[in-house]
Amino acid sequence: MKLTAIGTSGSFPGPNSAASCYLIETDEESPTRIVLDLGSGALSPLQAVIDTDALDAVVLSHLHPDHCMDMTGLYVKRCFDPRFFNGDITDTGTIRTRTPVYAPAGAQERLTRAYYTDPGKSPVANGGDDSDLSHAFEFFDIDHGDSHQIGSLRVESFLVDHPVEAYALRITDAQGHVITYSGDSDECENLVEAARGADLFLCEAAFQEDRDTARGIHLTGRRAGRVAQTAEAAALVLTHIPSWTDCSIVRGEAAGEYRGPIELAKPGASWTL
Ligand SMILES: [Zn+2]
Ligand SMILES: [Zn+2]
Repeated sequence: MKLTAIGTSGSFPGPNSAASCYLIETDEESPTRIVLDLGSGALSPLQAVIDTDALDAVVLSHLHPDHCMDMTGLYVKRCFDPRFFNGDITDTGTIRTRTPVYAPAGAQERLTRAYYTDPGKSPVANGGDDSDLSHAFEFFDIDHGDSHQIGSLRVESFLVDHPVEAYALRITDAQGHVITYSGDSDECENLVEAARGADLFLCEAAFQEDRDTARGIHLTGRRAGRVAQTAEAAALVLTHIPSWTDCSIVRGEAAGEYRGPIELAKPGASWTL
């Protein structure tokens, strides 16, 4: 499978990157394509690399805006594209289906409030009621210990340590390769389990040692390195670094704890397993 970083900026879009968004694609004849998070600003660069109608699912780690807010834009694109506005028949004659969205419970209500249209006031295709986004999306709850099969990819979710319900996501392809995405989390046992033996651990490092002292929110580079080392992940990719933080400091912290290869995620970078 191939991982492409779409948005890597921590907590809000930065001058050189959208907020969190990652594309995973398999290389089979009929590939599986999923997006992990669709944060603020990410719908723009995502469209540069994939037709969003071709996505098999969107998986949201949690419901902070930097991880889910561009779902509102994807909803508009899905519903009001003039090519399909009068029905769900594509120009190749196939029926468009709703995009599955795997997310913590309450995602549909939260995103509906973010998008908000007065009931009955939206000229949605087919005359349906779009007030709950169900015209475009089919929502599935994720919970700790869940395992969902999406095409040829298995997606497992692990509850992690963050101020809202948040999950690390462990993605396994048909060949057994594993990518773990931390979402947002401080150091915790479930995050180690999610990353256990992963071929690639895409891990947030939003905080800096000695500067950011709050706990239960984010990892420092040092704590990210420690989780990767404890989990025996084969490679560590640091991400979700805010624009006010010097990436080299965070990377240096991680290198003090983790003995494997470390990279910094940048928009457009990709890794193939
Ligand atoms: Zn975040
Ligand atoms: Zn968050």
